[in-house]
Amino acid sequence: MYRSTFFDTFFSDAEAAQPDGMDTNVTTLQGQVQMLTRNVFDLQLVVAALIDTLHRIELADPAKLRVTVEEELMRAREHLAVKSKAVADKRAADAKAAANTHQAAAGDTTCDKCKKVVPKARTNFTADGTVCDLCAAGIPA
Ligand SMILES: [Zn+2]
Repeated sequence: MYRSTFFDTFFSDAEAAQPDGMDTNVTTLQGQVQMLTRNVFDLQLVVAALIDTLHRIELADPAKLRVTVEEELMRAREHLAVKSKAVADKRAADAKAAANTHQAAAGDTTCDKCKKVVPKARTNFTADGTVCDLCAAGIPA
């Protein structure tokens, strides 16, 4: 049982109860989601109280605070989007490189006799150069 709330975590010295290990069964996950939902709700209340207090002691104008927070959120989201794009780009580049490597390994070559482009695996090294299986077998192109 999680005895502490988000508020307790911030405003008391009491150690927050932590789940034992990382149990991933559904019941545990449901409990964690409920706890996180409650923490988010507590966080909303704390932030609202802080904004109200800052406003009352005339340290912050709620409208200016909103603009500042929205700008900060936008910056954070853009940063996340850039990071996500970088990860996606790297994955795409890696996949392309892997495909190119595969293609090079499988690679095509040109038959020295009939001049057709054939897979390297379908060629033979002969006195006439690298020729395709058909030319090597003497079958006319
Ligand atoms: Zn050939």
